[in-house]
Amino acid sequence: MSFVITPPAAVSVPVVGTKDRFPVNRIYCVGRNYEEHAKEMGFTGREPPFFFLKPANAAVVVDAGATGTIPYPSLTKNLHHEIELVVAIGTGGKNIKAADAQKHIYGYAVGLDMTRRDLQGEMKKQGRPWCIGKAYDDSAPIGPITPAAQAGDVNNAEIYIQVNGKDRQRSNVSKLIWNIAETIEHLSAAWELQPGDLIYTGTPEGVNAVVSGDTMVGGVAGLPTLTVKVA
Ligand code: MN
Repeated sequence: MSFVITPPAAVSVPVVGTKDRFPVNRIYCVGRNYEEHAKEMGFTGREPPFFFLKPANAAVVVDAGATGTIPYPSLTKNLHHEIELVVAIGTGGKNIKAADAQKHIYGYAVGLDMTRRDLQGEMKKQGRPWCIGKAYDDSAPIGPITPAAQAGDVNNAEIYIQVNGKDRQRSNVSKLIWNIAETIEHLSAAWELQPGDLIYTGTPEGVNAVVSGDTMVGGVAGLPTLTVKVA
């Protein structure tokens, strides 16, 4: 069999400690999953988790120790960083209970849910989908995946991002409103999770703008840091 057009290249992420790579299937993101970030976005209280998606080829894969580059995207004047812990699903399933979630996790990575905040805000105001603000090209930088057994206690890990060497966001994964296991329970009730799915679990407070020339260094304790420059 041959294809009528060239099939798109598979997207994959390096895995710490091996030459093998993790193939990316779908990219799920959790909205407003840290209380202080929910507040800065004008919301309070523990609402049920909600989700949006980015295309797999929105991933900008950055090797350990390397500096990735993203273009300053079109249409926006307010490009925001959101540092996030990313969960990589190794075993699929639907209606996964939180108590069983761990065995579906392959590993963890540091990711950025880059956001055209002005466009997202306009869509929110109009009650329209967020895609143009969230799911645009190169909107999902990600560092290497660390297998779960080697990642330490990610549920209680510091999470941070610095821009040009200065702190912008610094919190702890323990402050997630819906923790990793609960997120998997909710997500797998709505979609059957598949191997290769990534879950960007949400960002803490301190989201802010970056401009061309800025360098972002993001981390979650126990995982390789993620360095991305805005071209
Ligand atoms: Mn986010």
